[in-house]
Amino acid sequence: MRKPLIAGNWKMHFTVPEGLEYALQLRRDLEPYSAVVDAVILPPAVMLWEIANALRGCAIEVGAQNAGWEDQGPFTGEISPKMLAGWCHYLLIGHSERRQLFNETDEELNRKLHAGLRHRLKVILAVGETLEEYEAGRTAEVITRQLNAAVYGVELRQATELSVAYEPVWAIGTGKTATPEIAQEAHAFIKSLLDAPVLYGGSVKPENAEELLAQPDVDGALVGGASLEVESFAAICETAARLSRS
Ligand code: PEP
Repeated sequence: MRKPLIAGNWKMHFTVPEGLEYALQLRRDLEPYSAVVDAVILPPAVMLWEIANALRGCAIEVGAQNAGWEDQGPFTGEISPKMLAGWCHYLLIGHSERRQLFNETDEELNRKLHAGLRHRLKVILAVGETLEEYEAGRTAEVITRQLNAAVYGVELRQATELSVAYEPVWAIGTGKTATPEIAQEAHAFIKSLLDAPVLYGGSVKPENAEELLAQPDVDGALVGGASLEVESFAAICETAARLSRS
């Protein structure tokens, strides 16, 4: 297993003091595993700076849940990868909530990916099919379209900073997890298209983390709901650490 990457997507949760308290507890809880697992938290943008400072000197990284693609300019409400660069190491793009609720297109995600990589952020690109597409047997087609569009024009040497998160939309926040076999098949398919670590996301929790992370092509997890409790997120990181040592 590659060194597993476990990312916690806080979405739009926590106030700044709550986020800080979480980060400080996570710092204590993850101390024993920091050498064998890459743990990343993705807090709301308003608290990124505070949390990055609170985690300075420890192995836990912070990342943004989204960013624009221009460096600066008249884009009210946007944050640029240039602003994040240097102190914030990861950038999540393409989450299905961004695609569905904010109408993000494949073309925009391609621009975001270029901008993130240009500023040396480690980009996590989320892809995945809806329930309708899954039931119609279109998973491979959808993933191929999303991946090809997002990485268009990206040079191979830059792609070393890219991870993919396979997140079947029907498994996000629904409590319905893809079976380990479904996840493995999709991950192997993604790796046949792109040489990058592939995280699984969709109702990952401490109870199912082991069977998912034990799959040969599952290189980590993108965790939503279960990352909102520091104990659950730490437990998933601990499972990943145990599997990577075995
Ligand atoms: C997510 O939001 O990326 C996610 C996978 O959510 P959940 O773990 O709650 O399904």
